[in-house]
Amino acid sequence: MRTLSMPGGRSIPVLGQGTWNMGEDPAERDREADALRLGLDLGLCLIDTAEMYGEGGAERVVAQALAGRREQAYIVSKVYPHNAGRRAVQEACERSLRRLGTDRIELYLLHWRGGVPLAETFEGFEALKAAGKIVDYGVSNFDRDDMLEAHATAGGAGVAVNQVLYNLARRGVEWDLLPWCRQHGVPLMAYSPLEQAGMLGVAALRAVASLRGVTPAQVALAWLLRQDGIIAIPKAVSARHVRENAAAVGVTLEAEDLAVLDTAFAPPRRATPLAMR
Ligand code: NAP
Repeated sequence: MRTLSMPGGRSIPVLGQGTWNMGEDPAERDREADALRLGLDLGLCLIDTAEMYGEGGAERVVAQALAGRREQAYIVSKVYPHNAGRRAVQEACERSLRRLGTDRIELYLLHWRGGVPLAETFEGFEALKAAGKIVDYGVSNFDRDDMLEAHATAGGAGVAVNQVLYNLARRGVEWDLLPWCRQHGVPLMAYSPLEQAGMLGVAALRAVASLRGVTPAQVALAWLLRQDGIIAIPKAVSARHVRENAAAVGVTLEAEDLAVLDTAFAPPRRATPLAMR
């Protein structure tokens, strides 16, 4: 899998697997873990989860999927803002590690801005790093002003990634956040890269897909992955979807495809508030 370089110099895969909505229904857990294992088999080693998803259930599904193959995976998890205090974040991380059945998380993110001062959260993250419990840390749902504030805060230079809502139908980040991230070498991790499947029926996307002999989801992922500094984390439980998504790394879009997509999904013409789920 192609990788990107993060500010600290370590690399991160450009395509991975999401886990939101996993771990909520015990009857679905085996299917969900199987999907993640299939993704790993196909090179999708980055797995994105959070203590929030299924209130720990998704992290348990990840542990099930990684049984016997932990070393193949790159785990991203997230702390709730209300657990982001200096000590609280360390306790939350310990709980995540227990649910994940591992002794380290490769990338640990603040899920969104909350009331805790960033300096405290970063201090907690640094302590976790020093203890070897996380390898890198970052943020999620931060707009450009949040990133400016983070960078001006002690520990802010350690922010390795910003995970935000970004896909063809949600291009607001292109106005100022994405240029800022590129300028500072901070990869942007695109969540809901398929707009939760809601945009896959759009005629322009279907037309480009049919011209290139691929699926609309693959076009949506290839559109993100062709850009510098972007990571995408589609979530899929269906084996067919996992296979399609893994194969999207090999899909190339031509200039005429991009023109069709730009007409259907216009780039931003002004600053807009950061979109979030
Ligand atoms: P998504 O990945 O855009 O879409 C997931 C939906 O698309 C599922 O219904 C899935 O179906 C379907 N799908 C997957 N691959 C497909 C394909 N090739 N063709 C057609 N349909 C396909 O949405 P998401 O789950 O919101 O976002 C991805 C991940 O980002 C999450 O799981 C989570 O890890 C992360 N996330 C983070 C935040 C945050 O605040 N930081 C917020 C939202 C999401 P099946 O599952 O049935 O296969």
